[in-house]
Amino acid sequence: MNFTISPPAPVQKALDTLSAAGFEAFVVGGCVRDALRGAEPHDWDCTTNAKPDMICKCFRDYHVIETGLQHGTVTVVIDRMPIEITTYRIDGVYADHRRPDSVTFTDSLTDDLARRDFTVNAMAYHPERGLIDPFGGTDDLKEGVIRCVGNPQDRFDEDGLRILRAMRFASVLNFAVAPETADAIHTQKDLLKHISAERIDTELTKLLCGTGAETVLQTFADVLFTVLPELAPMYQFDQKNPHHDYDVYTHTLKAVSACPPEPVLRWAALLHDTGKPHTFTEDVRGGHFYGHAVVSKQIAARALKAMKCDRKRYDRVLLLVEKHDLVLTPNEKQIKRIVRQIGDEAAEQLLLLHKADVTAQAACHRAERIEESDRLLTLLQELRAADACMSLKQLAVSGKDLLDAGVPQGKQIGLTLNRLLEAVIEGALPNEKRELLQYAEKLRETGSL
Ligand code: ATP
Ligand code: MG
Repeated sequence: MNFTISPPAPVQKALDTLSAAGFEAFVVGGCVRDALRGAEPHDWDCTTNAKPDMICKCFRDYHVIETGLQHGTVTVVIDRMPIEITTYRIDGVYADHRRPDSVTFTDSLTDDLARRDFTVNAMAYHPERGLIDPFGGTDDLKEGVIRCVGNPQDRFDEDGLRILRAMRFASVLNFAVAPETADAIHTQKDLLKHISAERIDTELTKLLCGTGAETVLQTFADVLFTVLPELAPMYQFDQKNPHHDYDVYTHTLKAVSACPPEPVLRWAALLHDTGKPHTFTEDVRGGHFYGHAVVSKQIAARALKAMKCDRKRYDRVLLLVEKHDLVLTPNEKQIKRIVRQIGDEAAEQLLLLHKADVTAQAACHRAERIEESDRLLTLLQELRAADACMSLKQLAVSGKDLLDAGVPQGKQIGLTLNRLLEAVIEGALPNEKRELLQYAEKLRETGSL
């Protein structure tokens, strides 16, 4: 492969500083992989034969953060850009299946590359020395393959997180997994039991947001069910329903990949039908799943708690899962009601989830249901553009106006505002201050709050 990588100026400065002091230095790992495939690296890591104390000495005029000195990692800030510089190292024994008990520094770049997880992540580059690729990373990059460096069984045994990292890279890069690596993923999936929930959540979220999520989660469904056993009943669950061409799990994965690649939406899609196998009934018309959204919400809560997912994502995903089955017809009033109930951002997410859901249903109605779904999204945009009154902040009266008009302080204010908003949305009142205050007065007089 003939190419040049041009690291940004601060990274070039880091390489030059180490070279000027007589050390080898290369950019390495993800940035080399991404630059070679024509993507913009999001961070640049360097590797060097300089020991950590020497790195600190070379960069004494810069801000240096001793990120993980005993593992040989130092972060140097050059022109406000943080650059991780790591000493060539060999990892010791991995007793806990996650981190080496010790590391040894080495003078061999090849040894350092050998400890890295996948061939496409085990390449180093220097603008004058060119590419160092002892494990065939460029070929695998060209062919779109994730392959362990060395024996996959051993590499996963050292660090179980690599199982999910392999799946994550396969999904994000839309690559295949090499057969021996794939075999080892299946046979050693239980190693994930040694990995913390937070690390699993991070990898799984990136995996879900990748373009290859559907293929990877279909191929490695068993691995997903090892970390989220709540999802297993969906596997090959026949819906026996004319609205569905696919079993529940396949439908789920198709819905995941039909959603925009954002964590909240992709998690909501993954969990939205988890309640189906538990609510299945059958009659002459076929299979039904009455009340499945509520059960899905309970299962989603368990799954997300097990992942120790943050509160904000937890709450939003649960809301979307609970509401995903609302019957949505494209009219303004309904959109306004949804925005009033769950807020503007969540309403848009719900419509996007709805679109993904119908995209993954039976082909016979797909086109018309997608069109209807698009109409809902367009309506929301139009209402936003027209600054239509859908939320309290758009109401022509505020809490202060009500106080001034004599409504007593306390929960009365909130209740009144909500009633006014409802009346405006339902078309019973114009969004005009005078009429709203009159109506508030009437509500107070009649005690009908
Ligand atoms: P991205 O930053 O896009 O997630 P990356 O490849 O840079 O991808 P990082 O987690 O930042 O991934 O790690 C940087 C490099 O360190 C990797 O490219 C790989 O060479 C090595 N590496 C990271 N984690 C592991 C691991 N668990 N086992 C072996 N090598 C690893
Ligand atoms: Mg990185």
